[in-house]
Amino acid sequence: MDRKDTHHHRHQQTSTKSLYAIQMGVQEKSANNMGGSLVNAVSSTNYHPNRYYNERQGFMASGIQPAVPGIQHHYLQQQVLTQQVPNPNVDLNEKLAKISRHNAHKELAAMQARNMQAIDKNAEALKDLQESIPEIHKIFDVHCRIGSGTFSTVLLGTLQRERCLVETQRRRFAIKHHNPTSHPERILRELECMFRIGGVDNVIGINCCIRYNENVAFVMPYMTHDRFHDIYRSLSFQEVRDYLRNLLIALRHVHKFNVIHRDVKPSNILYNRRTGKFLLCDFGLAQRIADDGSLIQSSDLSSREAFSFLRDMESGRSLMLTDGNSAQAEAEDYMASRRMRALGGGGGVDHALPGPPTMQKLREQTGGHLSKKDVANQKADTMRLLNRLRLMSPNADPNNYVVSTNTSKKDMHASRAGTPGYRPPEVLLRYPQQSTAVDIWAAGVIMLSLLSALHPFFKAPHDCGALAEIINLFGDMPVRKTAFMLDRLILLAQKVNTLDLRRVCMRFRHADFFLAPEVHRRYRRPDGSTEMCRSCEQPTFNCLCSNSGHHLERYEGLDIFPANAYDLLSRLLEVNPQKRITAEEALKHPFFNDQHRIAPGVPLHHQQHILQHQQQLRSRETLPSAAARTLKAFVSYPMELASTASQAAGNI
Ligand code: ADP
Ligand code: MG
Repeated sequence: MDRKDTHHHRHQQTSTKSLYAIQMGVQEKSANNMGGSLVNAVSSTNYHPNRYYNERQGFMASGIQPAVPGIQHHYLQQQVLTQQVPNPNVDLNEKLAKISRHNAHKELAAMQARNMQAIDKNAEALKDLQESIPEIHKIFDVHCRIGSGTFSTVLLGTLQRERCLVETQRRRFAIKHHNPTSHPERILRELECMFRIGGVDNVIGINCCIRYNENVAFVMPYMTHDRFHDIYRSLSFQEVRDYLRNLLIALRHVHKFNVIHRDVKPSNILYNRRTGKFLLCDFGLAQRIADDGSLIQSSDLSSREAFSFLRDMESGRSLMLTDGNSAQAEAEDYMASRRMRALGGGGGVDHALPGPPTMQKLREQTGGHLSKKDVANQKADTMRLLNRLRLMSPNADPNNYVVSTNTSKKDMHASRAGTPGYRPPEVLLRYPQQSTAVDIWAAGVIMLSLLSALHPFFKAPHDCGALAEIINLFGDMPVRKTAFMLDRLILLAQKVNTLDLRRVCMRFRHADFFLAPEVHRRYRRPDGSTEMCRSCEQPTFNCLCSNSGHHLERYEGLDIFPANAYDLLSRLLEVNPQKRITAEEALKHPFFNDQHRIAPGVPLHHQQHILQHQQQLRSRETLPSAAARTLKAFVSYPMELASTASQAAGNI
């Protein structure tokens, strides 16, 4: 459910509850004050519409505070019956005040419930780790759960031998405790990738791995990060650019090893908005490409190669973590997050830079009073667009939407590992010869969310729907052509136009401009109707089709992203995997060269402020890495654990 839905839902809930609250009387208030159950307190026989008002009047007149509500209960009811009919305005205000108190009470209760849930999960994760790998507690103080995915729970730990240091100097580690259901080959693959590839170029490294019976935990440097969900709408142009540059640097590094990460998505990216630090993590689905271009199946990993890798690790090959996971930088992060918490803020630091003044002007020009009909029309436009992007043809069979033009059935077996909204066309077309271009598509989907401020952008639950979403955005022709090239045939009931990526992104990011009533009124026909584009199903002046023949309303000066951002986006989201840009090429794209873009209409002093802000961030990034340490990675076995535990403590 996206934030809008949640809000809407909450709003609906609130209004129902409000109605309920209005109908409550003195007893409910008494019950509230006692901390008692509301349900118990409501009695239909005691209901009186003006009772709340009267009750308040009674308090004011007598100066009695409702400290012992149970005792006052009787007295209040008497007051209720003797008071006159109140002024309706005052009555309404009182009711509203009561509603907001009631809602605040409910919100607090929900917050407490959420907290309790988090506390339960936390305790469960700590207990689980303690029981599965008891020896870990000889090395670490494990503090709390910091995250979890499908296959693991991640906890925060500090070294026991650093207890004597002040809090800010203690190094922090993320302990990734794999679920016992996670396949050993998956764990081995992840370990291998982190060990061989990680530690440089924005790729997470590993300090050590501890195994006890069937339980495995990886110890990695901890990094404070922001939740993508909290920041993706408010990142500035520079921040978006740095985010993408960092992601591409990480992918370029991973791809050099002929490895596909296969699960590039925001929850597998650790990004700290304040410091600009960035790490790609979670290699649980990573796959190596063999020299003949085929993917190395996971079962191949249990071969000789895997054993030699384990031997490498055991023999204590040293591993340098040079990605700036220094104690000093971490301590800074830590202090900043504490400061934020002290100020009542969340984990992320809001970097919202003052927007260009033209925005305000544009808003004034396009703003205006919204009638109910305007609001309904706006909602309908947005729903149509989302349907246009998300829905597939009702005739499509989700299990049989793509067939091979090659008669050999075996050919249709291909790796599908990954997260639904981030799978590229070749995966959805079940093409077995997949390449590192799979990750580039996923990076493109992230860029799409950043430019459109819509996340998740694609959300089909199955592959057929996912392919339909891609067709709905890029049109049927590019997908048909790619399918043909990959010996596939897709069964499509209709032709679909390609949409213009820039206008689609702007339509979501700046919905208030596209839906401004003034603009809509200007284009309204004499009979009150609006001409709609048959292909994108939007009003013709807001047509989103690429090469639209309609007269378009221009939203000049609105976009914070330059045109070359959309050029890069279209290259990352190239439907044909063979034509898709590589990470190396993408880093040379003009989007990243344009260092000092002067935005039209923005006074220079504003832009200087932006540049200074960026310089400050960069200078923090390049702090001397005080603790670029040599760390020994190892794998331990149950019988050796007692000895290796102390070895681990010595090595970290
Ligand atoms: P899974 O394989 O189960 O998806 P991940 O490696 O993606 O596990 O980790 C799950 C979550 O734990 C991440 O989304 C992130 O929030 C948190 N996390 C993982 N590694 C670290 C780390 N080194 N520092 C801080 N948080 C981390
Ligand atoms: Mg993950």
